[in-house]
Parts: sequence; C-alpha cells; structure tokens
Amino acid sequence: MASLSNCSSLRHGVSLWCPQSASLTRARTQVSPSIGFRSFRRSYVVASSAFANENREFVIVGGGNAAGYAARTFVEHGMADGRLCIVSKEVYAPYERPTLTKAYLFPLDKKPARLPGFHTCVGSGGERQTPEWYKEKGIEMFHGDPVTSIDIGKQTLTTNSGKILKYGSLVVATGCTASRLPEKIGGNLPGVHYIRDVADADALISSLEKSQKVVIVGGGYIGMEVAAAAVGWKLDTTIVFPENHLLQRLFTPSLAQRYEELYQENGVKFLKGASIKNIESGSDGHVAAVKLEDGSTIEADTVIIGIGAKPAVSSFESLGLNTTIGGIQVDGQFRTRIPGIFAIGDVAAFPLKIYDRMTRVEHVDHARKSAQHCVTALLSAQTHSYDYLPYFYSRVFEYEGSPRKVWWQFFGDNVGETVEVGNFDPKIATFWIDSGKLKGVLLESGSSEEFQLLPKLARSQPVVDKAKLQNASSVEEALEIARSSLKD
Ligand SMILES: Cc1cc2nc3c(=O)[nH]c(=O)nc-3n(C[C@H](O)[C@H](O)[C@H](O)COP(=O)(O)OP(=O)(O)OC[C@H]3O[C@@H](n4cnc5c(N)ncnc54)[C@H](O)[C@@H]3O)c2cc1C
Repeated sequence: MASLSNCSSLRHGVSLWCPQSASLTRARTQVSPSIGFRSFRRSYVVASSAFANENREFVIVGGGNAAGYAARTFVEHGMADGRLCIVSKEVYAPYERPTLTKAYLFPLDKKPARLPGFHTCVGSGGERQTPEWYKEKGIEMFHGDPVTSIDIGKQTLTTNSGKILKYGSLVVATGCTASRLPEKIGGNLPGVHYIRDVADADALISSLEKSQKVVIVGGGYIGMEVAAAAVGWKLDTTIVFPENHLLQRLFTPSLAQRYEELYQENGVKFLKGASIKNIESGSDGHVAAVKLEDGSTIEADTVIIGIGAKPAVSSFESLGLNTTIGGIQVDGQFRTRIPGIFAIGDVAAFPLKIYDRMTRVEHVDHARKSAQHCVTALLSAQTHSYDYLPYFYSRVFEYEGSPRKVWWQFFGDNVGETVEVGNFDPKIATFWIDSGKLKGVLLESGSSEEFQLLPKLARSQPVVDKAKLQNASSVEEALEIARSSLKD
C-alpha cells in the first residue's frame, strides 16, 4: 500500500561517483591546472631528501577515512613514495570509521570486527592498507600527535609534541568531533560515552561488559546503531530524543514508525519528545541515572551520547570557514582560499553541484570520493568539478542470530511529497517527488540490482506518475514504474 505525506528537506548531502583518472601513472612533471598545485610548484623548496628532515612535499593532516583513500590515490599516481606524510591524532592507520557502531559493537561471542580487519580501503572493496602497507609505499606516518597550528606564510605545521613540519601541498582531512553534553550537566561522568574513534569504541565495550542498563541520547544514526548493538548484548536499552520520531532529518513519520516497531520488537524502549536535564552519578562517581526535563529519571550504568558532530577546524580557521554550515570552505576541486591547501571529507564545505548549494557531508562515501577527486586534481590534469549525489545508508541487527537484518540506502534529496510502498516485510520504499520529478528514493532490504537503480533515479530526476506509484502493489512494481520513467 502507498501513502502520501509532506516532508522537509534534508539540506545535507552525501555521495558522488568520482571517476578514477585514466592516467593513474601520470608522471610528476605533468602540472595540474589547479591553482593549488601551481602555487605549490612556485613556493616549495625541495629538500634533498623528503624524509631526512622537516620538509615534506605532500602532507595530509588527519588519519581517518578520507586520509586513507587520499593516500591510495597518491600511490596510484606514483606520488607517495618518499613524498607523502600523514599526521594523525589517532594511533592507528586509517580505517573505515562506520564499522565502529556496526560490527565493532557486535556481542563479543558474535565475531566482532577488530583492527587490522577494517583498515581503509576495504569498505569499498579495495586493498586493506595496514601500517605495513604505508611503510612499503614509502609513506611517512606520525601517529598520536595532532596538529595544533599552521603558519601559512612559512608553510609549516606545529604538532602537539612540538614538531614543526614543512609542507609543499597540504590536505586537511580532520573530520569531525562528537558533540558533547556540558560537563556541568554530567556530560563527562565516568560511564558516559561518545563515539568517534577506536579508543571511544573500546571504552564503550568495556562499559557494556559490566552494564545492565543502557541509555542512548539521540535518535539519529549513531543512536539507532548503538541501540541495535546494545540489545544484541541483551542489555536493558532505552533511547531518548527530543524529536517525534527516529532520524527525523530523513525518515518520514510513517517510515520511522516501521523502524521503531522493529526496534521495540528487539527490546529497545523509546522516550520521544524528551530532553535531558542532567546526567547523575552515584556515590562512586559513576553514572547512575539520566534525568529528563519533565522530572522523570531513567536508571543507567552506561550512557551513550549521539547528538551530532562538529567539524574539527580549530587549528585551521585561518584557511577560511563557511560561516553558515561550518567547515573549511573549498571549491569544486577542494581548494581552500590558500593556494596549495585543500580540505576533504567531513571537514570540507563544498559546492553541491546537483542542487546548486553549499554543503558539508558527514558520510563515508563523500570522504572516499572527495579524497580521490581532490588528489587526482592535485596530481593530474583533471579540471572538472566534484559532482556529488547525496547518499546515506545504515546497516543494523546484522550479528549472527539476529532475527532480522536491516539495510537501507537513500539517494538524492528528500524534498516534496512522499509516496511509500511496501509493508516492511522485509522491503519498503519511499519516493520523494517535487514538482512532478522524482528527487529522492529510500529502499530497505533491496537486492543489489534494485539498490543500483537508486542513484540512476536520483541523478536523472525523471518525471514520474505519482498516482501509478501510489497504486503499486509491491516495492518491485514501484521500482519498475520508476525505472520505466527513466526512458520517457
Ligand atoms: C561511529 C560512527 C559511525 C558512522 N557510520 C556511518 C555510516 O554508517 N555511514 C556513513 O556514510 N558514514 C558513517 N559515519 C561517518 C563517516 O565515518 C565519516 O563521514 C568519515 O569517517 C569522514 O572521514 P574523514 O576522513 O573526513 O574524517 P574521520 O574519518 O573522522 O578522520 C579524521 C581524522 O583526523 C584526525 N584529526 C582530527 N584533528 C586532527 C588534528 N588537529 N591533527 C591530526 N589529526 C587530526 C582524527 O583523529 C581522525 O583520525 C560514521 C561516523 C562515526 C563516528
């Protein structure tokens, strides 16, 4: 059965397809038309040995998803060996961060994912770049030593330990940091967790091992994924959020209801429209309860906060921030306003060409594709602008023995009216239609062929017959109607 409703726009993006350059082995003498590279060629003083001292030809700051894919692109262009250096706050080589709230949190007897299993670029079917891979490729890594400041004039970075690194070209890939609840309302109590990196996930697992009652604050991706994991551990799990339903920025109320029912069947309790007053500790100083604005209290020995993230720009404000959406402002080649300096991944505010607006995307597909696009433009003759198609996905309840796996994908823009088709057993599809055009599609539990259709639809934005879609008796039929509109 189909249903129709209105919804607000996501104003948020994700995903693009970034073609691999055909000239992966272009020689370094081929100078990019990008301003950044030309400038770098002018200003960089080449050290006799790029590894001998503080002069580095290419430096990536940040060792996350985007850095891993950027490193691979440098290698593909033959420009990594002895020339590339990565400086990271984390102690691990780049890894596929989404794993942290998925397979990493599987119950300990259900084969949870652990490093080195999910180093980039395994998430997109690529080679697993272990620490040895970086060594073999001649890429210098500084771990556990964040960059604290940049001197644009001198082309140097200073790290927390006081190292000064000279760079030729610089790629900033510092991602985001988790938004925190203020300390004065208990945001830093022992037993209160935020999840952004492996160290955070390990700390959470240690808590879950001793836990009985878990409260999750936030009904977005992180909240939904951690709640699904916590019930897998057979813990009393409550999810609390101020909105009316799960993932309000994307899901329609009716779609959210399907997922909420599934979560409830799996034992997750919901407190919707609820705001946190403070988090309380017991006599041992450890978290003991979450107090809500309405005066009620929920007991908890582990609390996970998933209330969003902020771009990690504190050391890079001088590169020029976007004052509306945050992040470092870049153009369609990921160039900042400073020649020779680029920003990619979560931290970059870039032009979303397809919808003619600036955006920041906190999703892994964009981290991968922005890295490839930026480095290819930096090292080759590629001049076309990044043309990203927003893409979101989530996968939960995937541990062995789970009664039902959930895997949905969304492509496009969630604007206009919606038509929902399917009964969630297991499939359901939601189509967003604006001015008669199909603008976005979400599909749960599709086949790989069906999932492959979604970006084609969202990219083409065909005119669709809404009445026909509403009358479709199955998801398969609705997708066929949408597919046939591509040919019209
Ligand atoms: C728990 C979790 C689950 C997620 N799940 C999904 C999902 O299911 N689907 C999806 O599409 N996306 C998901 N995401 C988002 C996705 O992981 C990010 O969009 C992606 O990791 C962004 O890549 P990035 O390289 O820009 O940033 P990151 O991967 O965050 O990497 C940034 C790196 O920079 C380091 N750093 C920060 N500041 C400095 C500094 N000053 N000096 C040196 N290093 C620094 C950080 O420590 C980190 O290693 C998830 C994110 C999290 C946290």
